Amino acid sequence: MQKVNYGRLFDQKAEELRKSGEKPSLLLHACCAPCSSHTLTVLYELFHITLYFYNPNIAPEEEYNYRCSELKRLVKEMGMDIPIIEENYDPAPFLSLAKGLEDLPERGLRCQKCIALRLEKAGLKAKELGCDFFTTTLTISPHKDCTFINEKGCELAETIGIQYLFSDFKKHEGYKHSIELSKKYGLYRQNYCGCVFSKVQAERKDTYGQGTKDQCNAVS
Ligand code: SF4
Repeated sequence: MQKVNYGRLFDQKAEELRKSGEKPSLLLHACCAPCSSHTLTVLYELFHITLYFYNPNIAPEEEYNYRCSELKRLVKEMGMDIPIIEENYDPAPFLSLAKGLEDLPERGLRCQKCIALRLEKAGLKAKELGCDFFTTTLTISPHKDCTFINEKGCELAETIGIQYLFSDFKKHEGYKHSIELSKKYGLYRQNYCGCVFSKVQAERKDTYGQGTKDQCNAVS
């Protein structure tokens, strides 16, 4: 089966919006500041954005709070007028879905469930707020399964009754741009994806000298 080009689908939607002059509302699930940086520069002219920080996968709590505070700082320093909704730290739903899947590598079933959980919550929040669309910054990561993210987003959109915005934010040098913006704003770039299992895996790699630097987008 031919692979869907989600980057092109996004470009088509962006072109459609530019031509129509419409600026719909969008709930953007954000995993961290580095992944949000480029994504926001692309979306800001096209949508009325609300950022949504819901990441029960992140551990420990200090890390969760720090990633969220970096996101707030970024938005402020970029001079963007964007509200940010931050959910309270509660890792229970993530730990429950990860049971028995603790040792799987990234992109495995644990990651699929983790991404689905965050997308579903984002879709429901978007619906509750009356947003036109929802999507996530996660597709900017070269370490994440872009097809899975978009297919799951589309499936949830149908169930919830809201539009999902297809994306592949790493296209058009998006990932590279996020690294440049991270440098420009001095953003914290974590060296593990987010959960305690990915933290242990990253630490093991460090122990064996493989290094984990610049894996922020390995990363949520
Ligand atoms: S490695 Fe990342 S995507 Fe996978 S379960 Fe952990 S936090 Fe979620």
